[in-house]
Amino acid sequence: MLIAIVKETEPDERRVAITPPTLAKLLRLGVTVAIETGAGQAAGFADAAYQGASIAASAADAVREADIVMTVRPAAPTLVAAMKPGAILLGFVEAPDHPDLVSALRENRITALAMEKVPRISRAQAMDALSSQAALAGYYAPLLGAAHLPRILPMMTTAVGSLRAARVLVMGLGVAGLQALATAHRLGAVTSGYDVRPETAEQARSLGAKFVETGVDARAEGGYARPLTDVEHATVREALTRYIAEADLIVTTAAVPGRKAPRLIDRSQVLAMKPGSVIVDLAADSGGNVEGTLPGETVIVGPTTILAPRNVPSRLAEHASELYARNLLAMLGLLIEQGSLKLDLADEIVSAMRVRPDGADGDTTPGSAAL
Ligand code: NAD
Repeated sequence: MLIAIVKETEPDERRVAITPPTLAKLLRLGVTVAIETGAGQAAGFADAAYQGASIAASAADAVREADIVMTVRPAAPTLVAAMKPGAILLGFVEAPDHPDLVSALRENRITALAMEKVPRISRAQAMDALSSQAALAGYYAPLLGAAHLPRILPMMTTAVGSLRAARVLVMGLGVAGLQALATAHRLGAVTSGYDVRPETAEQARSLGAKFVETGVDARAEGGYARPLTDVEHATVREALTRYIAEADLIVTTAAVPGRKAPRLIDRSQVLAMKPGSVIVDLAADSGGNVEGTLPGETVIVGPTTILAPRNVPSRLAEHASELYARNLLAMLGLLIEQGSLKLDLADEIVSAMRVRPDGADGDTTPGSAAL
């Protein structure tokens, strides 16, 4: 059985779907591996480091005979067209945003398993690429913010007196937000956190942060949040305004599945912030949590610099690739038995990940037909 990995083609994407240490483990599954030349270059992995794989001169050469093709970002339709019918594509798909990819999958009879659809169940934890990548983005956000602040984060005692520690507020305490709190705490900031799922209060406190109580409980199915009502939004706004005004650095990470990112900070709240304050809006890829955010840009609004970095995991390409490759390896453990492909469409994980011919979410009907 042949597994192919290609060079990512989206601009600014530095990650790769396989790293040399993961390749060694993959080969132990009894498969052969083809890698497009230069695939790992931007993440720091030269072709020569991929011991045991064959290096293909082009993406088309790598995938032509492959049973499984692995990518990070959604594949280009031309890549799908070069795959053999009946093969499997494993990677992020983001079907609603990539209708041309969905058409190419249908026309070429390729089964796609979308890594963003891995269910949040214990058995699938090792495959959860959303979590592995969010953890790295969350870690990075306070570092990025700190580099734009005109002050330091920790308290510092000097010969001429002490400097006060910075106040960092993290809004949205999922995987990324908790990592952001942890980083800010390690850097010596005084940290606070807020989320609409009350169970995050204990998680924030365990990381040394104060939890801002708002009294709003917007827990929804599967451990996610639901959108707030207008009344809830007003309640939260009132509770948070003081913390926003007092913060030196704010990291926002709030998301609601399948929707535009919720608005957490409006313009008047930004204008009331301290001079030199910084917001890192990690929700930029889904529209941003802050009024005035420009995805991919840095803007100055009144006293505040708003940073809205896109695709943060790509900036940490070595480790992001390492964790993502481990997620894929865990997934392959489900798809490969004794060196052969074993696609169980009734499996809860496979079923949730499988892209439907019309691009809709994976269905849960056991045994329903593959693409
Ligand atoms: P996410 O990226 O979907 O959202 C980030 C955070 O934003 C969430 O904590 C959410 O509650 C919060 N949020 C949404 N609207 C908000 C608002 N208006 N104000 C403030 N915060 C708001 O979240 P995620 O990191 O993907 O995690 C989602 C859930 O999945 C969590 O409960 C997490 O613990 C759980 N999870 C479970 C597993 C597992 O069991 N295998 C793995 C990873 C995550």
